[in-house]
Amino acid sequence: MTSEAEGSSPNRATSPAGDDITRDADVAGHDLPLDAHLHTDQSPDSSVPIDVYAALAVERRIPEIAITDHVDFDPRDPAYQYTRFEDRERTVRGAAERWAKEGVTIRFGAELTYNRRWESDVREHLAKHRYDYVIGSVHDWPESPYWPSRIGAWVEGRTLDEIVEPYYAEIIAAARSGLFDTIGHLDVVKRYLHPHVTAAQLAERPDLKEPALRAIVESGVSLEVNSSGLRYPGAETYPSGPVVARYRELGGQRVVVGSDAHARGSFAHRLGESYRHLIDAGFGHLTFRRGSDRVQVEVPGRTGIGTPDALRS
Ligand SMILES: [Zn+2]
Ligand SMILES: [Zn+2]
Repeated sequence: MTSEAEGSSPNRATSPAGDDITRDADVAGHDLPLDAHLHTDQSPDSSVPIDVYAALAVERRIPEIAITDHVDFDPRDPAYQYTRFEDRERTVRGAAERWAKEGVTIRFGAELTYNRRWESDVREHLAKHRYDYVIGSVHDWPESPYWPSRIGAWVEGRTLDEIVEPYYAEIIAAARSGLFDTIGHLDVVKRYLHPHVTAAQLAERPDLKEPALRAIVESGVSLEVNSSGLRYPGAETYPSGPVVARYRELGGQRVVVGSDAHARGSFAHRLGESYRHLIDAGFGHLTFRRGSDRVQVEVPGRTGIGTPDALRS
Protein backbone atom coordinates (compact mmCIF):
# COMPACT_ATOMS: atom_id res chain seq x y z
CA MET A 1 0.00 0.00 0.00
CA THR A 2 3.05 2.16 0.16
CA SER A 3 2.70 4.65 -2.62
CA GLU A 4 -0.98 5.36 -2.39
CA ALA A 5 -2.13 8.84 -3.31
CA GLU A 6 -1.26 11.54 -0.82
CA GLY A 7 1.15 10.21 1.74
CA SER A 8 4.67 9.74 2.87
CA SER A 9 6.27 7.30 0.43
CA PRO A 10 9.19 8.85 -1.45
CA ASN A 11 7.49 8.62 -4.81
CA ARG A 12 4.23 10.07 -3.71
CA ALA A 13 3.26 13.39 -5.14
CA THR A 14 2.52 16.07 -2.62
CA SER A 15 -1.07 16.47 -1.59
CA PRO A 16 -3.07 18.03 -4.38
CA ALA A 17 -3.75 21.33 -2.69
CA GLY A 18 -6.83 20.40 -0.72
CA ASP A 19 -9.43 23.07 -0.90
CA ASP A 20 -8.19 24.59 -4.13
CA ILE A 21 -9.66 21.71 -6.06
CA THR A 22 -13.10 22.06 -4.52
CA ARG A 23 -13.29 25.66 -5.71
CA ASP A 24 -12.89 24.56 -9.30
CA ALA A 25 -16.35 23.64 -10.52
CA ASP A 26 -14.94 21.91 -13.59
CA VAL A 27 -13.12 19.24 -11.66
CA ALA A 28 -15.19 18.86 -8.49
CA GLY A 29 -17.44 15.90 -9.18
CA HIS A 30 -21.11 16.44 -8.38
CA ASP A 31 -24.55 15.03 -9.21
CA LEU A 32 -23.18 11.50 -9.50
CA PRO A 33 -24.77 8.43 -7.91
CA LEU A 34 -21.74 6.89 -6.19
CA ASP A 35 -18.13 7.41 -5.15
CA ALA A 36 -16.97 3.94 -4.10
CA HIS A 37 -13.36 4.58 -3.02
CA LEU A 38 -12.53 6.98 -0.16
CA HIS A 39 -9.87 7.06 2.57
CA THR A 40 -10.44 8.66 5.96
CA ASP A 41 -8.19 9.26 8.96
CA GLN A 42 -8.46 5.52 9.59
CA SER A 43 -5.96 5.08 6.77
CA PRO A 44 -2.33 5.97 7.54
CA ASP A 45 -2.05 8.24 4.53
CA SER A 46 -5.17 10.35 5.11
CA SER A 47 -6.28 12.71 7.85
CA VAL A 48 -9.84 13.36 6.68
CA PRO A 49 -12.57 12.72 9.27
CA ILE A 50 -15.46 10.76 7.80
CA ASP A 51 -17.96 13.57 8.45
CA VAL A 52 -16.04 15.79 6.03
CA TYR A 53 -16.72 13.42 3.13
CA ALA A 54 -20.33 12.98 4.23
CA ALA A 55 -20.87 16.75 4.25
CA LEU A 56 -19.25 17.05 0.81
CA ALA A 57 -21.49 14.28 -0.49
CA VAL A 58 -24.54 16.28 0.63
CA GLU A 59 -23.17 19.47 -0.89
CA ARG A 60 -22.29 17.81 -4.22
CA ARG A 61 -25.44 15.71 -4.42
CA ILE A 62 -23.64 12.36 -4.37
CA PRO A 63 -26.13 10.16 -2.50
CA GLU A 64 -23.94 7.11 -1.82
CA ILE A 65 -20.31 6.75 -0.79
CA ALA A 66 -18.12 3.84 0.29
CA ILE A 67 -15.41 4.30 2.89
CA THR A 68 -12.57 2.00 1.85
CA ASP A 69 -9.73 2.49 4.31
CA HIS A 70 -6.53 0.54 3.76
CA VAL A 71 -5.85 -2.89 5.19
CA ASP A 72 -2.33 -4.22 4.58
CA PHE A 73 -0.96 -7.67 5.31
CA ASP A 74 2.80 -7.20 5.21
CA PRO A 75 4.12 -5.89 8.56
CA ARG A 76 6.34 -3.47 6.65
CA ASP A 77 3.36 -1.81 4.96
CA PRO A 78 1.84 1.25 6.66
CA ALA A 79 -1.71 -0.03 7.08
CA TYR A 80 -0.63 -3.27 8.73
CA GLN A 81 -2.68 -3.36 11.94
CA TYR A 82 -3.00 0.43 11.69
CA THR A 83 -6.57 0.27 12.94
CA ARG A 84 -8.78 -2.41 14.40
CA PHE A 85 -11.65 -3.70 12.31
CA GLU A 86 -14.07 -3.04 15.17
CA ASP A 87 -13.02 0.62 15.42
CA ARG A 88 -13.37 1.18 11.69
CA GLU A 89 -16.73 -0.51 11.59
CA ARG A 90 -18.05 1.46 14.56
CA THR A 91 -16.87 4.76 13.08
CA VAL A 92 -18.34 4.13 9.63
CA ARG A 93 -21.63 2.64 10.83
CA GLY A 94 -22.02 5.48 13.33
CA ALA A 95 -21.51 8.07 10.61
CA ALA A 96 -23.90 6.17 8.34
CA GLU A 97 -26.58 6.50 11.00
CA ARG A 98 -25.93 10.22 11.51
CA TRP A 99 -25.94 11.06 7.82
CA ALA A 100 -28.80 8.89 6.58
CA LYS A 101 -31.33 11.60 7.39
CA GLU A 102 -29.30 14.05 5.30
CA GLY A 103 -29.80 11.80 2.29
CA VAL A 104 -26.34 10.23 2.13
CA THR A 105 -25.82 6.49 2.40
CA ILE A 106 -22.39 5.49 3.70
CA ARG A 107 -21.13 1.95 3.07
CA PHE A 108 -18.50 0.20 5.16
CA GLY A 109 -15.82 -1.02 2.79
CA ALA A 110 -12.10 -1.65 2.71
CA GLU A 111 -9.23 -1.58 0.24
CA LEU A 112 -7.13 -4.67 0.82
CA THR A 113 -3.60 -4.78 -0.57
CA TYR A 114 -3.30 -8.02 -2.52
CA ASN A 115 -0.21 -10.10 -3.21
CA ARG A 116 0.05 -13.85 -3.72
CA ARG A 117 2.49 -13.98 -0.81
CA TRP A 118 -0.24 -13.14 1.67
CA GLU A 119 -3.34 -14.34 -0.16
CA SER A 120 -4.14 -16.78 2.64
CA ASP A 121 -4.06 -13.92 5.16
CA VAL A 122 -6.48 -11.91 3.02
CA ARG A 123 -8.77 -14.91 2.78
CA GLU A 124 -8.68 -15.41 6.52
CA HIS A 125 -9.36 -11.72 7.18
CA LEU A 126 -12.39 -11.74 4.90
CA ALA A 127 -13.70 -14.94 6.43
CA LYS A 128 -13.67 -13.31 9.86
CA HIS A 129 -14.81 -9.81 8.99
CA ARG A 130 -17.88 -8.65 7.11
CA TYR A 131 -17.66 -5.58 4.94
CA ASP A 132 -20.33 -4.08 2.70
CA TYR A 133 -17.83 -3.83 -0.14
CA VAL A 134 -14.22 -4.92 -0.73
CA ILE A 135 -11.65 -3.60 -3.19
CA GLY A 136 -8.54 -5.66 -3.93
CA SER A 137 -5.60 -3.55 -5.06
CA VAL A 138 -2.03 -4.28 -6.07
CA HIS A 139 0.39 -1.67 -4.72
CA ASP A 140 4.18 -1.51 -4.76
CA TRP A 141 4.82 -4.18 -2.13
CA PRO A 142 8.03 -4.00 -0.06
CA GLU A 143 10.11 -6.32 -2.28
CA SER A 144 8.54 -4.97 -5.42
CA PRO A 145 10.74 -3.82 -8.30
CA TYR A 146 8.53 -0.72 -8.39
CA TRP A 147 9.77 0.51 -5.03
CA PRO A 148 11.16 4.03 -5.54
CA SER A 149 14.74 3.05 -4.70
CA ARG A 150 14.67 0.09 -7.11
CA ILE A 151 12.68 1.29 -10.05
CA GLY A 152 15.61 2.87 -11.93
CA ALA A 153 17.65 -0.31 -11.86
CA TRP A 154 14.58 -2.41 -12.71
CA VAL A 155 13.77 -0.66 -15.97
CA GLU A 156 17.42 -0.60 -17.08
CA GLY A 157 18.00 -3.06 -19.91
CA ARG A 158 14.57 -4.68 -19.63
CA THR A 159 11.84 -4.83 -22.23
CA LEU A 160 8.45 -3.28 -21.50
CA ASP A 161 7.01 -6.78 -21.25
CA GLU A 162 9.50 -7.68 -18.53
CA ILE A 163 9.06 -4.36 -16.73
CA VAL A 164 5.30 -4.65 -16.20
CA GLU A 165 5.06 -8.43 -15.80
CA PRO A 166 5.30 -8.57 -11.97
CA TYR A 167 2.48 -6.04 -11.63
CA TYR A 168 0.05 -7.76 -14.00
CA ALA A 169 0.87 -11.19 -12.59
CA GLU A 170 -0.45 -10.01 -9.22
CA ILE A 171 -3.54 -8.47 -10.86
CA ILE A 172 -4.34 -11.75 -12.59
CA ALA A 173 -3.96 -13.63 -9.32
CA ALA A 174 -6.09 -11.05 -7.48
CA ALA A 175 -8.89 -11.44 -10.04
CA ARG A 176 -8.73 -15.23 -9.94
CA SER A 177 -8.63 -15.35 -6.15
CA GLY A 178 -12.37 -14.67 -6.06
CA LEU A 179 -11.83 -12.63 -2.89
CA PHE A 180 -12.87 -9.20 -4.08
CA ASP A 181 -15.86 -7.29 -5.39
CA THR A 182 -13.60 -5.01 -7.38
CA ILE A 183 -10.07 -4.73 -8.69
CA GLY A 184 -8.86 -1.27 -7.67
CA HIS A 185 -7.05 1.22 -9.89
CA LEU A 186 -5.86 -1.14 -12.64
CA ASP A 187 -2.68 0.20 -14.30
CA VAL A 188 -1.51 2.21 -11.27
CA VAL A 189 1.87 0.76 -12.27
CA LYS A 190 1.99 3.75 -14.64
CA ARG A 191 2.49 5.96 -11.62
CA TYR A 192 5.28 3.83 -10.21
CA LEU A 193 7.08 3.77 -13.58
CA HIS A 194 6.97 7.50 -14.18
CA PRO A 195 9.22 9.07 -15.47
CA HIS A 196 11.32 6.03 -16.46
CA VAL A 197 8.50 4.75 -18.66
CA THR A 198 5.80 7.19 -19.71
CA ALA A 199 2.05 6.65 -19.92
CA ALA A 200 2.34 7.28 -23.66
CA GLN A 201 4.89 4.46 -24.06
CA LEU A 202 2.62 2.11 -22.16
CA ALA A 203 -0.40 3.18 -24.22
CA GLU A 204 1.45 2.02 -27.36
CA ARG A 205 1.46 -1.53 -25.98
CA PRO A 206 -2.16 -2.31 -25.05
CA ASP A 207 -1.37 -6.02 -25.48
CA LEU A 208 0.64 -5.96 -22.23
CA LYS A 209 -2.49 -5.79 -20.08
CA GLU A 210 -4.65 -8.03 -22.24
CA PRO A 211 -4.18 -11.16 -20.06
CA ALA A 212 -5.08 -9.13 -16.96
CA LEU A 213 -8.21 -7.75 -18.61
CA ARG A 214 -9.22 -11.24 -19.68
CA ALA A 215 -8.70 -12.54 -16.14
CA ILE A 216 -10.92 -9.76 -14.79
CA VAL A 217 -13.62 -10.52 -17.37
CA GLU A 218 -13.51 -14.26 -16.71
CA SER A 219 -13.58 -13.89 -12.93
CA GLY A 220 -16.58 -11.55 -12.95
CA VAL A 221 -14.96 -9.11 -10.54
CA SER A 222 -15.78 -5.41 -11.13
CA LEU A 223 -13.26 -3.19 -12.85
CA GLU A 224 -12.84 0.11 -11.03
CA VAL A 225 -12.32 3.28 -13.05
CA ASN A 226 -10.35 5.31 -10.53
CA SER A 227 -10.07 9.04 -11.15
CA SER A 228 -7.02 9.55 -8.90
CA GLY A 229 -4.73 9.00 -11.90
CA LEU A 230 -5.92 12.33 -13.25
CA ARG A 231 -4.03 13.97 -10.38
CA TYR A 232 -0.68 12.45 -11.42
CA PRO A 233 1.71 12.72 -14.39
CA GLY A 234 0.13 11.11 -17.42
CA ALA A 235 -3.22 12.47 -16.23
CA GLU A 236 -5.31 9.40 -17.06
CA THR A 237 -7.83 7.47 -15.05
CA TYR A 238 -6.75 4.03 -13.79
CA PRO A 239 -7.41 2.43 -16.22
CA SER A 240 -7.67 4.88 -19.15
CA GLY A 241 -10.69 5.25 -21.43
CA PRO A 242 -9.32 3.00 -24.22
CA VAL A 243 -8.68 0.23 -21.68
CA VAL A 244 -12.25 0.50 -20.37
CA ALA A 245 -13.47 0.19 -23.97
CA ARG A 246 -11.26 -2.87 -24.55
CA TYR A 247 -12.56 -4.48 -21.36
CA ARG A 248 -16.08 -4.06 -22.71
CA GLU A 249 -15.08 -5.57 -26.07
CA LEU A 250 -13.66 -8.58 -24.27
CA GLY A 251 -17.02 -9.14 -22.60
CA GLY A 252 -16.48 -7.22 -19.38
CA GLN A 253 -19.80 -6.34 -17.78
CA ARG A 254 -19.00 -5.13 -14.28
CA VAL A 255 -17.58 -1.70 -13.59
CA VAL A 256 -17.53 0.74 -10.71
CA VAL A 257 -15.99 4.15 -10.02
CA GLY A 258 -14.05 5.85 -7.24
CA SER A 259 -12.07 9.02 -6.64
CA ASP A 260 -9.68 7.34 -4.16
CA ALA A 261 -9.64 10.59 -2.17
CA HIS A 262 -7.15 10.85 0.66
CA ALA A 263 -7.69 14.59 1.10
CA ARG A 264 -10.74 16.80 1.38
CA GLY A 265 -10.03 18.43 -1.95
CA SER A 266 -9.87 15.10 -3.75
CA PHE A 267 -13.39 14.02 -2.84
CA ALA A 268 -15.08 12.92 -6.08
CA HIS A 269 -12.35 14.84 -7.88
CA ARG A 270 -12.90 14.57 -11.65
CA LEU A 271 -15.07 11.55 -10.98
CA GLY A 272 -17.34 12.63 -13.84
CA GLU A 273 -14.51 11.64 -16.17
CA SER A 274 -14.60 8.09 -14.87
CA TYR A 275 -18.34 7.99 -15.55
CA ARG A 276 -17.74 9.48 -18.98
CA HIS A 277 -15.39 6.62 -19.90
CA LEU A 278 -18.09 4.15 -18.89
CA ILE A 279 -20.73 5.87 -20.98
CA ASP A 280 -18.40 6.08 -23.98
CA ALA A 281 -17.68 2.35 -23.67
CA GLY A 282 -21.41 1.55 -23.51
CA PHE A 283 -21.89 0.69 -19.84
CA GLY A 284 -25.32 1.53 -18.46
CA HIS A 285 -24.77 0.64 -14.83
CA LEU A 286 -22.20 0.16 -12.09
CA THR A 287 -21.92 -3.14 -10.24
CA PHE A 288 -21.47 -2.56 -6.53
CA ARG A 289 -22.10 -4.50 -3.33
CA ARG A 290 -24.15 -3.38 -0.35
CA GLY A 291 -23.42 -6.07 2.18
CA SER A 292 -25.29 -9.18 1.12
CA ASP A 293 -26.68 -7.56 -2.02
CA ARG A 294 -24.81 -7.18 -5.25
CA VAL A 295 -26.55 -4.25 -6.91
CA GLN A 296 -26.59 -2.32 -10.13
CA VAL A 297 -26.44 1.45 -9.97
CA GLU A 298 -27.57 3.31 -13.04
CA VAL A 299 -24.97 5.43 -14.80
CA PRO A 300 -26.46 8.91 -15.28
CA GLY A 301 -26.73 10.26 -18.77
CA ARG A 302 -28.16 7.00 -20.09
CA THR A 303 -31.65 7.44 -18.75
CA GLY A 304 -33.06 9.71 -21.41
CA ILE A 305 -33.65 12.36 -18.74
CA GLY A 306 -30.53 14.15 -19.84
CA THR A 307 -26.90 14.37 -19.00
CA PRO A 308 -26.11 15.97 -15.68
CA ASP A 309 -23.76 18.94 -15.77
CA ALA A 310 -21.06 16.79 -14.26
CA LEU A 311 -20.96 14.61 -17.35
CA ARG A 312 -21.16 17.24 -20.05
CA SER A 313 -17.91 17.60 -21.86
ZN1 LIG B 1 -4.81 1.79 -3.74
ZN1 LIG C 1 -7.23 3.74 -2.27
